[in-house]
Amino acid sequence: MANLRVTNIGAIVSGDIAAPLAEGDTVAVRDGLIAYVGAAQGAPPESAHEVVIDAAGATVMPGLIDNHVHPVIGDFSPRQRVLDFIESCLHGGVTSMISAGEPHLPGRPRDRVGTKALAILAAKAFANARPGGVKTIAGAVILERGLTEADFDEMAEAGVELVGEIGLSAVCTPEEAAPMVRWAQARGMRVAMHTGGVSIPGSNAIRADLVIAIRPDVASHVNGGPTRLPLADVERILDETECFVEIVQCGNTLAAQEVARLVAAKGMESRLILGTDMPSGTGVIPLGMLRTIAWVSSLGGIDPAQAVAMATGNTARLHGLNRGGVAAGREADLIVADAPIGSAASTALETLAIGDTPAVAAVIVDGVVKAGTSRNTPPAQRKVSVPGFAGGGH
Ligand SMILES: [Zn+2]
Repeated sequence: MANLRVTNIGAIVSGDIAAPLAEGDTVAVRDGLIAYVGAAQGAPPESAHEVVIDAAGATVMPGLIDNHVHPVIGDFSPRQRVLDFIESCLHGGVTSMISAGEPHLPGRPRDRVGTKALAILAAKAFANARPGGVKTIAGAVILERGLTEADFDEMAEAGVELVGEIGLSAVCTPEEAAPMVRWAQARGMRVAMHTGGVSIPGSNAIRADLVIAIRPDVASHVNGGPTRLPLADVERILDETECFVEIVQCGNTLAAQEVARLVAAKGMESRLILGTDMPSGTGVIPLGMLRTIAWVSSLGGIDPAQAVAMATGNTARLHGLNRGGVAAGREADLIVADAPIGSAASTALETLAIGDTPAVAAVIVDGVVKAGTSRNTPPAQRKVSVPGFAGGGH
């Protein structure tokens, strides 16, 4: 199992929205889990076969968790005919993805047995395959007419943990959807619900009234997917439900700014999560998570370390994942990030605050380095040294 150490860290972003920075300059990993976060002097002794990354003053943060992805099977999207988009997102700092449904399957079955089968297949297939190393939780069942409570037992037993966006199918009224949502939630499934305008032909416009009546766990892309929800509706969802609200990259930029400011004004930062909503009609954006964090920080006025927590720890809390944090005991999914060459900023957090995209210098999953210098971000200002990977800074 993987042993790793990151030394000479300039700043540690914790992923915890309540305490978004951690003290120290060293992170040590034992057997794929974070064993130590703190000063070099107090770190455990070096172990055999330990990989040592010299961060050279760069920033360590949790690997990003994209809460809104539409995978199908494997690392291929029929929606935009692209290969290896998940692996490309790894180079944008993403180490986990959460499916919001697999509606892009050509010929997607719309009957009870078919939608159940698709969810089970996607859940099981992605449990066995991590494209590029990215932990992908998929098999988000799309609610179709005729699903019974026993079907939810069967799906939960088979590893289905998610309900895909309500609004992608015909089941979107409180009368039809709410009983299924209660069955899903009783079995620990997390339920996403499309909000805003119609995204793809056959889907439905959804406003606050429906969210309040159906009570999902996530009001998906309240900044639009791609057409935004009115801000007053977002406020009603925050006030009248307990669900998370989500900002995505493939949405409305102005709405992202307004929602971030609204959430901060209400002191509800712990309920905001981030995603991309790709592949979609808007495209495939491998740097989408970093860009969305930069929007929330630079336009929305959110502290950049808190904005990172919205893309890591908040999402992990929603899904009950032992990741998304730089703290002892967590799965060692980490990135080393920095200000890119040419930016007016000099650290990764300053970069986000001014709206630039940070440089990713290393991506680590379960303590194993999956990428060194990113092929997608600009290069780092600092010469981060990653054994076994060429590049490093300039
Ligand atoms: Zn949607």
